[in-house]
Amino acid sequence: MFTLPDLPYAYNALEPSIDEATMKLHHDKHHAAYITNVNDALKGNDALEKLTVEQLLQNLHKVPEEIRTKVRNNAGGHYNHSLFWQIMAPQTSDENEPTGKVVEAINTSFGSFAMFQEQFAKAALGRFGSGWVWLVVEPTAGGQHKLVLVDTPNQDSPIMERRTPIVGLDVWEHAYYLKYQNRRVDYITAWWRVVNWPEVGRRFASVVAA
Ligand code: MN
Repeated sequence: MFTLPDLPYAYNALEPSIDEATMKLHHDKHHAAYITNVNDALKGNDALEKLTVEQLLQNLHKVPEEIRTKVRNNAGGHYNHSLFWQIMAPQTSDENEPTGKVVEAINTSFGSFAMFQEQFAKAALGRFGSGWVWLVVEPTAGGQHKLVLVDTPNQDSPIMERRTPIVGLDVWEHAYYLKYQNRRVDYITAWWRVVNWPEVGRRFASVVAA
């Protein structure tokens, strides 16, 4: 049985980028509903109930067809939101830029941090309807790692293809509509201020070390 993880900060901690009402609704209602629904779908299936959410999403082909879509959407929603809460943190500086190894990887993969932000925002604006934009770590043929942008519909996740996301941005309207209405671009601009780059850096380091 999956359980709703607590936010690692208060509901109002990401103000003014993300408002308290949106965080309450998003965590307590939307994320909670994904958990209720995936638990409901898996009920009585002992083998599947033992899996972690990552294992479940990487083995959807083993999930009985009659519950597969429900599991895909709701386990995906649980995984994606759990990551999303972790890779945000209260704003501590105007710049809020990454440091360390992950910056080197961003510069190598995208040219510069500014160019990365531009391409990420373009992908986030270009995602039609509901979905996510991701920064994913990929191994290269030379035994190194590069970073790539991926966008997914609904609650699909790069983890379903055994790819490892270290940043994810929720561009479902429920993530921003209360404060930003149809202005997705303003939400994206504000969101950069609350990206938890130290946490993203730790995630990058753990993928590279593995
Ligand atoms: Mn969401």
